Amino acid sequence: MTAQQAITPAHKYRNNDKAVGVGNAFWDSSERNGLAGIVAELDNGVLRTAEGHEFVNFTCCSYLDLDSHPKVIEGAIAALRQYGVLDHCIPRSRVQIPALLELEASLSELFRAEVVSAISAGVASAGLLPLIASGHLGNGIRPLMLFDKNCHVSLAGAKPACADETEIATCEHHDIDFIEDMCKRYERVCYVVDGSDSLGGYAPVLELARLQEKYGLLAYYDDSHSLSAYGKRGIGYVRSHSPVLDERTITVATLNKAFGTSGAAIMLDGYPKATLRVIERFAGALCYSQPMNTAAVGASLASADIHRTEELATLQGRLQANIKLFDSYLKTNHIGTEYPIRVIPFSDDAVIDAGRRVFEAGFYVSPVFFPIVARGTAGLRVMLRAGQTSLQVRDLCAVLAEVGASRVRVLNELSKEAS
Ligand SMILES: *Cc1c(COP(=O)(O)O)cnc(C)c1O
Repeated sequence: MTAQQAITPAHKYRNNDKAVGVGNAFWDSSERNGLAGIVAELDNGVLRTAEGHEFVNFTCCSYLDLDSHPKVIEGAIAALRQYGVLDHCIPRSRVQIPALLELEASLSELFRAEVVSAISAGVASAGLLPLIASGHLGNGIRPLMLFDKNCHVSLAGAKPACADETEIATCEHHDIDFIEDMCKRYERVCYVVDGSDSLGGYAPVLELARLQEKYGLLAYYDDSHSLSAYGKRGIGYVRSHSPVLDERTITVATLNKAFGTSGAAIMLDGYPKATLRVIERFAGALCYSQPMNTAAVGASLASADIHRTEELATLQGRLQANIKLFDSYLKTNHIGTEYPIRVIPFSDDAVIDAGRRVFEAGFYVSPVFFPIVARGTAGLRVMLRAGQTSLQVRDLCAVLAEVGASRVRVLNELSKEAS
C-alpha cells in the first residue's frame, strides 16, 4: 500500500478546529444548563415549555413585534390565495410569478432605493461579496476587500470566496485611519462592516462617507439590526445617515428582524439594469436557489404597508420607551443609545450560570461567548422590544441586578414584583 498523504489546511480565513474547539464547549454547557435547545410555544407574548416553564424572551430580534402582527399573518395567507403557489420552482431569471416584483417595487419605494430581494441576508452577502471582489458589482476594478474585525459571521464567511478573486485584509473595529491608509495604497477598496452591530453600536457612516467622497471607497453595510427599528419609515441607520447614496454604498438587511417577516433586502442606488441582471444570474444562491416564497412575500407586503402608516412610529416609540426604561434601572456600556441591545458583561466562567438563574426567574437572555463574540467579551445579551410590558422590563432588571450584583450598576430602586 502506498503511503497516503495527510492534508495540512491553509486556515487563512477560517478555522473550524478553533471555532468548534472553543465554541462547542460553551454550547454544550449552555444546553446542559437549559439555555440552548429550548422548545417552547408562544402564547400572547409569553413562551411556555412542555414542562410548563413560562418565560419572556429578551433575545428576540423582532424589535417591533411585527412578526406576529395580525396584518402580517393575513398578508401571508392572502398572497398564497392570490398567487395559488408557494414557490414555482425555477430560477427567477428564467420564469417568475409577479409576486416578488410587486414586493421589490414596494420596498424600493419604501426605502427609496433599488431593492433586490433574497431569501436571507446571509445568502445575499455570500452571493454579493465575491461579485464585488471580482469588480463585477462596482466599477470594474478589483478592490481590496477590507473586512471589519467584528463584522457578522455572514460577512466574514465570504472571505475565502473573495480571496480567490482579489486580495483580502481585516482591520480593527471601525479603524478609519487604517481604512484611509488602504485607500491611499490601493486603486479601490471595499470596506465590509455591520451598519448596526449585534452587540450594540453603529458604523461610522459619516467618516466613511468622507473616504467615499475622497477615494471612491465602496462601503458594504449589513444593516440587519436597524432596518424598521430605526429611522423614518424604518429606513435603518445607514440609509438615514449616509450622505452617499449612490453606487458607492451597498446595504443589505434581513427582513427577519424588526421588519418581522422573512427574506432580505439588498438596497442599491445608481447601478444600471445590466448590473442587476448580473446579480440575478451570478450572485451565488441568488441565481440557483429558491427566492422568497409567496407567503414571505405577502407578509412582507403587509409589513411594508404598516411601515407607511403612523403605526410604525408608534411601535418605534414603544421600543424606545422600553430601552429608556431599561436604562433608568441598569447602567451598561450602551446606556443612552437608541440601540435595542444591552450587554451585561460576565466572565466566560460565570456567564452561563448567570443566564440559568435569569431563566429560572422567567426571562430568557442569551449568554454570548466566543466565537459568537470576540474573546473576553462574554455576557448576557438583552434585547428590548416594543411589545414587552414595563413590568416585564422592570422585573428583568431586578433579576439582572441580583444575578450580576458586582458587575452592573443599579441606578434606581428595584425589587421584583410578586407577579
Ligand atoms: C441576523 C443577522 C443576519 C442574518 O440574517 P438572515 O436574513 O437570517 O440571513 C445577517 N447579518 C446580520 C448583521 C444579522 O444581525
